[in-house]
Amino acid sequence: GERPPVDVNALCEEYLRLAYQGLRAKDKTFNAALETDFAPALPPVEAAGADLGRLLLNLFGNAFYAVQKRQQTGELGYAPTVRMTMQQAGGQVEIRVADNGTGIPAAVREKIFQPFFTTKPTGEGTGLGLSLSHDIIAQGHGGSLAVESREGAGTTFSVALPLNGAAY
Ligand code: ADP
Ligand code: MG
Repeated sequence: GERPPVDVNALCEEYLRLAYQGLRAKDKTFNAALETDFAPALPPVEAAGADLGRLLLNLFGNAFYAVQKRQQTGELGYAPTVRMTMQQAGGQVEIRVADNGTGIPAAVREKIFQPFFTTKPTGEGTGLGLSLSHDIIAQGHGGSLAVESREGAGTTFSVALPLNGAAY
């Protein structure tokens, strides 16, 4: 490919802060703990930085939305947390975005990658984020996007991104 190398650690950090600040700009009372674990030796990745940024912004946005919703239930002692971890292994980097938010019911989980599927009120969600994210990572980068979730406990999205960009 002809893509300029991207510092994925920096990109992830930048978009995590951006998503958090975006939510806090609308709701000053909202607070979440941000936990990060980078892959310090990660080489620059041949990737479409803007597309990857869009994917991350949506994953982080979804995570903050889910912890905010759970916080609004008034559950005692609840501490909203979004954790981003990166691991380099076997020629790819795995980016995990984990939240301890509402979680996703099984019947909903089957549909989340469909275009225009959303459980959010009009104006708060288009339902395009995950379907676009899936295409960006699978078709655009030869990677994959997976989800694990437990209702009432939280959700983890895992992005597997090949380092060499050879697969597209
Ligand atoms: P949107 O955010 O516009 O609704 P997405 O494609 O990003 O569209 O997500 C689709 C749906 O998947 C959301 O409406 C929500 O029901 C569910 N979802 C996605 N991420 C999470 C998450 N981290 N926690 C709980 N539900 C989620
Ligand atoms: Mg979304």
